[in-house]
Amino acid sequence: MESNKKIRRKTASSTPEYQKIYREAHKERARARRKLKHVEYLAYQRKWRAANPEKTKAYRVKGKAKQRLYQKDYNQTPKGKKVNRVSNWRVRGVLHPDFDSLYDLYMNTTHCDKCRVELTESTIPQSTNKTLDHDHYTGSFRNVLCHSCNASAPRQKKETICPTDLDPEPPSSSSEESP
Ligand SMILES: [Zn+2]
Repeated sequence: MESNKKIRRKTASSTPEYQKIYREAHKERARARRKLKHVEYLAYQRKWRAANPEKTKAYRVKGKAKQRLYQKDYNQTPKGKKVNRVSNWRVRGVLHPDFDSLYDLYMNTTHCDKCRVELTESTIPQSTNKTLDHDHYTGSFRNVLCHSCNASAPRQKKETICPTDLDPEPPSSSSEESP
């Protein structure tokens, strides 16, 4: 199905000049009408959904599958990767005033801050995989480390429960960040 935007773009090219001028002059009024129509349409939709529960359910299932596909593609884009990685850090308790610059720093770091090994970004667990090291107690960022240095980094106040300790992950994998 074509989106409204696409249809509008298509019709715009075939619109005569006088009509364009008229539309431009009555832009606000048209917008108000569209808004009112939209409210009516929403009410109609609600009614339809109540009358057709089976079809509604089927549409939802279909929509969710579509959304999953879209999400999969989005996750592979540079922006998607960034959004996912940063949210992963936040979930793990990393606190930082500027996650954009932190992400740039993370991306531009090629060697471990501790042992200077060249970092890898594999989806397979490797000792040289890049991880973000943060203080589990204060949440502050410390270094960009390889997985093996990160695993041996000191954990302050272990007795304090922090969100990262509640991760449902096996203890052998990185506790800071998974690719
Ligand atoms: Zn290292």
